[in-house]
Amino acid sequence: MKDTKYIFVTGGVTSSLGKGIISASLAKLLQGRGFSVTIQKLDPYINVDPGTLNPYEHGECYVTEDGAETDLDLGHYERFSNVPTSQANNVTTGRIYQHVINEERAGTYLGSTVQVIPHITDEIKRRIKLLGQSGNFDFVITEIGGTVGDIESFPFIEAIRQMRWEMGKHCAVVHLTLVPFLSAAGELKTKPTQHSVKTMLEQGVQPDIIVCRTEKHLNDSIKGKIAQFCNVEVSSVIESIDAASIYDVPILMLEEKLDIEVLRKTQTPIPEKIDIRKWEDFLHRLHNPQSEVTIALVGKYVELKDAYKSINEAFIHAGVSNDCKVKLKYVHSEHIDSGNVHEQMAGVGGVLVAPGFGGRGIEGKITAIEWARTNKVPFFGVCLGMQCAVIEFGRNVLGLRDAHSTEMNPRTPHPVIDIMSNQKTVKNLGGTMRLGAYPCKLDPESKVYGVYKETMISERHRHRYEFNNDYRKAYNKAGMRTVGIYPNENLVEIVELENHPWFVGVQFHPEYKSTVARPHPLFVGFVEAVKNYLSEKD
Ligand code: GLN
Repeated sequence: MKDTKYIFVTGGVTSSLGKGIISASLAKLLQGRGFSVTIQKLDPYINVDPGTLNPYEHGECYVTEDGAETDLDLGHYERFSNVPTSQANNVTTGRIYQHVINEERAGTYLGSTVQVIPHITDEIKRRIKLLGQSGNFDFVITEIGGTVGDIESFPFIEAIRQMRWEMGKHCAVVHLTLVPFLSAAGELKTKPTQHSVKTMLEQGVQPDIIVCRTEKHLNDSIKGKIAQFCNVEVSSVIESIDAASIYDVPILMLEEKLDIEVLRKTQTPIPEKIDIRKWEDFLHRLHNPQSEVTIALVGKYVELKDAYKSINEAFIHAGVSNDCKVKLKYVHSEHIDSGNVHEQMAGVGGVLVAPGFGGRGIEGKITAIEWARTNKVPFFGVCLGMQCAVIEFGRNVLGLRDAHSTEMNPRTPHPVIDIMSNQKTVKNLGGTMRLGAYPCKLDPESKVYGVYKETMISERHRHRYEFNNDYRKAYNKAGMRTVGIYPNENLVEIVELENHPWFVGVQFHPEYKSTVARPHPLFVGFVEAVKNYLSEKD
């Protein structure tokens, strides 16, 4: 059993400062010193999970192995730490209240008035300690979503206050703030940081370490000022300067000794050596690409890059594996039609059609796929992207007029994509899709087998519709091969085209499993195919 220490990461001044990246970077450094670490996100909103949130609101919904629909920061945690997260790693206010109210109805608190303190704060503390009690981790890093001072985050800050009181040096609080540069004054300003620390103090929490997000280096006098006004040691004022890539942040934090400060504050003996050579190799290759390719990312949420976060990052990892920089050209599927597709796809060496829900922009996706198929341009379809590839092939190769998914057209004469039988009775939309990891058996004669180099794989899912097996024979005969199957229920998970350099559609989400340490083989294979396509074209 490990003597688990708890690190809290809070944010002040403004949102979007990158608490997730700081948490993930700290985890990476602690791992480099030989500690086992997990990272948890507590989100102050009332949704039970972000699965029902529009990507415009909250960016991508990330899915864990055990099928939890979570905040996209969990993706960063996995990509940096290479350790899978689970349901326990993302807890919202909604989930906390749901549990407490269920307990109240069950009579657990019989006789007492159920209140924010202690019932809600006890449940928050229980969720935090649950990860520590697994006995697997030296450190549990808990990131609190939102900004201190928000009404929603009060119970979480109060839970931290109580845990520190109860556990003393087994806890440390890292507070991330912004130190803005005012160009008119030509100066960095510490006042917002002072105010956000004051807000925390009003709630009874003194940060141990202050990480300052800044565009310009903090000199000693600025660090001294922050230390003096915020009751921390100068060595506990850590600069977090804007970086070219999020993957540079662990190294910047190493230089600023964030990990050492955390170990010192929690009275943990400091191992002398740190091993992050593999991370440094990755960075070297990331910053020294030998070539560049452009890939079209076709989707309907292209205005907000966070909507496709994991796909973005998977391309960064796959680019590094191929020593090339992958530039993504975001193409709005609603703006594609047969008249302009050639122009829209100008200069791209591959097309990825993104996951999604609902009919908006669907015809543009299908047109982009037809273009990639007929021009023999590498294509990769993910979830809805795979379903669109099946629809396109049905309509244009098999001659199935108006073939469609019953999600978009329930009355189609050719429902080549149909609702899964166990989804037909589902009424509630929250957390009821086919979610999480399922095994998939690959055809050893397929291209994807050549990529994975194993017959049984496991990938994560998030969907309700599936390839309609009534059409399976016709598709295989005409050259769209069903090469990956979920054996227990005979569900088609992967299709690929014969006579095409690379045309792969997957019902699952490979992007969720791509990490710096293990770039996803399908993304690596796709980028390689794009490179080959472009070099043969020249
Ligand atoms: N809307 C499709 C389905 O539910 C695809 C989902 C997705 O792309 N994640 O099956």
